[in-house]
Amino acid sequence: MTIQSERACSAPEGGNRPPVDIGLAERLFDELRRRTGTNRGITRTSYGLGEQIAHDMMRREAHKLGLEVRTDPGCNLYMTLKGRETGPAIFIGSHLDSVPMGGNFDGAAGVLLGLAVISGYVRAGVRPPRDITLMAIRAEESTWFGASYIGSRAAFGLLTDRELDEVKRSSDQISLGAAIDAAGGDTAFLRSGKSFLDPSDIAMFLEAHIEQGPVLIERNQPVGIVTGIRGSFRYRDAKCLGVYAHSGATPREYRSDAVKAAAALVMDLDTAWEQLAEDGADLVVTFGQFATDASEAAFSKIAGRLSFSLDVRSQEAETLKCVHKILLDAVARIEASHKVRFELGRLTDSKPASMDRSLVDALSGFAAEDGIPAHVMACGAGHDAAVFADAGVPTGMVFIRNANGSHNPDEQMDIADFAEAARLVSALCLSPPVEILKARA
Ligand SMILES: [Zn+2]
Repeated sequence: MTIQSERACSAPEGGNRPPVDIGLAERLFDELRRRTGTNRGITRTSYGLGEQIAHDMMRREAHKLGLEVRTDPGCNLYMTLKGRETGPAIFIGSHLDSVPMGGNFDGAAGVLLGLAVISGYVRAGVRPPRDITLMAIRAEESTWFGASYIGSRAAFGLLTDRELDEVKRSSDQISLGAAIDAAGGDTAFLRSGKSFLDPSDIAMFLEAHIEQGPVLIERNQPVGIVTGIRGSFRYRDAKCLGVYAHSGATPREYRSDAVKAAAALVMDLDTAWEQLAEDGADLVVTFGQFATDASEAAFSKIAGRLSFSLDVRSQEAETLKCVHKILLDAVARIEASHKVRFELGRLTDSKPASMDRSLVDALSGFAAEDGIPAHVMACGAGHDAAVFADAGVPTGMVFIRNANGSHNPDEQMDIADFAEAARLVSALCLSPPVEILKARA
């Protein structure tokens, strides 16, 4: 592989790189836990108190490090260490809000990782080749306003008037626009649709995040290198409608059994999943809700109605299209064979986002060079990185091993794993792939 020789040549290599400032990150994780935690987990409300505390802490630390600090009309915070050369900056970023009663690491780990990297440079007197901008992003968690990636979309001028006016915070029914203004933002600017960030000013965007699934734990690897963020199609409120009938008195050929028909659909999609996975496709299929109506169903009745949800995700748009066709074909076939009717309800979807290939390769190269066990993998949950990738910015993501999932107080990230991920990001910022810098010049 030629990755090594194609790197910008000015950075110290391997053991000569400046150490990342893990002590600072540990102190800030402790302070975040103390100031935004309760006896039932961590709550950093989007555009609310906990998130603001976290942003104020980052601003304080950025001033201590002598970084240039600014905010945008959506209240995102940018903290920049000047580089040696002019040209598009390297962005590191993640979000500082959390779900209600969540964990301390989802989101914050990515911001503190950026700070640990930058502090490492400052303490060692190292100036990176390009400006490094650490972005503390607002309001990523959709649980508060029922909308995703609010902060990063605000930075690119992508929030709509309808969202600003009609979307309300679940905890207090304040509109998104009012919450942004109360936090010191500028909704007049956001309503203009102007983009605060110009994608051409950004050489690359890097997001570190705790892994939210079990893959790195199961594989016993501290770090993941993300190839893409899965897109999805979802039916949140689907129904299978049959006919209620006596379980003892209705022979097989006269039944319209909603449970059996819906179960056939589950098995059809599972078989398709297995085959597609064998062919190398990235795919996850989940029927997360699946229930007969408790007020109508009974032990001795054939079920006439079953409600279910379907969540299909893949990092390949082609795979999503293919599975959607398989679903519709299976529905038609099962309706005929089982004498039922499916009402799939409203379809929602999101596009997959690909991570930049040369960033995946460069991160893999640094991991190999430094002996850091890293697993190259797809990302199943949405992240701000998707917004940057969608804006045409070369984007990379690093996962940090985490036990017990995320969005709960039991998130468990080992600081040693965090340090390995920080070392990878530090190495990449000192030696960004030359082909990206050339393409973004
Ligand atoms: Zn997150």
